[in-house]
Amino acid sequence: MSDKYDVVVIGSGPAGYVAAIRAAQLGLKAACIEKWKNNEGAGVNGGTCLNVGCIPSKALLDSSYKYHEAAEGLAVHGISTAGVEMDIQAMLGRKDKIVKQLTGGIAGLFKANGVTALYGTGKLLAAKKVELTDNNGVVSVIDAENVILASGSLPIAIPVAPVDNDLILDSTGALEMGEVPERLGVIGAGVIGLELGSVWGRLGSKVVLLEALDDFLAIMDKAIAKESKKIFTKQGLDIRLGARVTGTEIKGREVEVTYKTTAGEELKETFDKLIVCVGRRPFTQGLLAPDSGVDVDDRGSVYVNDFCATNAPGVYAVGDLVRGPMLAHKGSEEGVMVAERIAGHKAQMNYDIVPNVIYTHPEVASVGQTEEQVKAAGEPYNVGTFPFVASGRALAANDTDGMVKIIAHADTDRILGCHIVGPSAADLTQQVAIAMEFGSSAEDLGMIVFGHPTLSEAVHEAALAVNGGAIHIPNRKRR
Ligand code: FAD
Ligand code: AMP
Repeated sequence: MSDKYDVVVIGSGPAGYVAAIRAAQLGLKAACIEKWKNNEGAGVNGGTCLNVGCIPSKALLDSSYKYHEAAEGLAVHGISTAGVEMDIQAMLGRKDKIVKQLTGGIAGLFKANGVTALYGTGKLLAAKKVELTDNNGVVSVIDAENVILASGSLPIAIPVAPVDNDLILDSTGALEMGEVPERLGVIGAGVIGLELGSVWGRLGSKVVLLEALDDFLAIMDKAIAKESKKIFTKQGLDIRLGARVTGTEIKGREVEVTYKTTAGEELKETFDKLIVCVGRRPFTQGLLAPDSGVDVDDRGSVYVNDFCATNAPGVYAVGDLVRGPMLAHKGSEEGVMVAERIAGHKAQMNYDIVPNVIYTHPEVASVGQTEEQVKAAGEPYNVGTFPFVASGRALAANDTDGMVKIIAHADTDRILGCHIVGPSAADLTQQVAIAMEFGSSAEDLGMIVFGHPTLSEAVHEAALAVNGGAIHIPNRKRR
């Protein structure tokens, strides 16, 4: 058998490992190179998502939510729970166990599908050759018919708040804090800042989020962002908008943060720990030889077309490394599309229907266009909303914060977007994403029979409300 691979993937995060598995399923000889090492120094798959991203953050979100519910949320049900305590080490240990199980699972999936797992650092040379420096420093060159770059992203560092992972932490450090800080500062009230702020806030920290922009969740639907801010503020998160951090000073075991308000005022706040969550940037360090033929744009992303092909023939790039939202599922679908195209299929990806979720409680989730985007495009539209306070299931669960909002084209009634803040918003939004993929109108969704009592009924009612037919709320006057 020749040593040449049909596909060599560099990076085994959700974009890379999925691409490698799909390629092998389609009969291609595939290898996947990964440089991540676990605490024992062994190579480990899964990338940011499994090691320090989606999965560990959700483990901590679930643990901290259960603690918070046990401590404060059960009295309303008639359950008294005096003396509830949180063992932080046990919480972190549970998270680590889940990470170990899932990352190990990928090695198992590689084996089952016949993907060759290689551990070390990959570099794309000219003519689709890949240099592998293994974890012992041994260098070899692999021949590939096709290369998929999937090296992911890293947290953005800002000079005004240098991360030492002692007092000033990035998102990775924030998943490892061994004790609950009394005063926790978070720079950036984006997705990751809100999730990590929620974890530690539920465990008892007084959390202040400093956000440079004047708008909260600026890219989300405005009505949902406004409702979300109201809910998070009620929960105790101190969200300060128009607050750009301009400096930090370590004073003993405290961090003094200086920030400038939009009005130009300079203010200071002192924290026991500070988390920097100002976004992520594509990671290309050491990935490309100067003659690889792959272009990188001015934001550091590898340039690709709609099918994730780079400028170098036979070289593709997927996931956080390329344009578009930095989301695990977006990268995975790109990985599938590329593997299928390499195998000769006519695969494509629908970038218009990629759900986006913030896993706070309640969750905030969206798919498709916001009302502001539809308006800016000059399209006529109708909106249907339904508050969870009118949902029997939400009321029974004492989980009534939030609402569902569905936007549909006024002429065709085709659903253009769905935005939810509320219990199980992620899963409810996915229902609408499925409907949208099938070209559903609001009326179609309204004609589907929904089980009772379910949270999904809120989606059903919002779809009915689009055309003024909601049953369990008074309908807004049609425009
Ligand atoms: P990555 O997961 O970053 O994987 C890239 C891999 O490539 C890494 O393992 C890296 O070691 C390896 N690599 C890099 N260079 C080389 C090289 N030269 N040779 C060999 N290997 C290399 N997204 C969601 O969709 N949902 C969430 O709930 C969510 N929560 C998140 C929470 C946190 C705290 C963070 C930080 C991120 C979260 N994300 C979430 C984002 C998500 O983790 C990323 O979008 C996703 O991991 C990107 O996948 P990827 O495969 O492109 O890159
Ligand atoms: P996200 O892109 O969702 O991870 O969110 C990152 C957030 O950090 C964005 O909303 C930025 O506006 C915000 N941000 C970036 N730099 C600063 C800064 N120096 N001070 C406060 N917020 C910042």
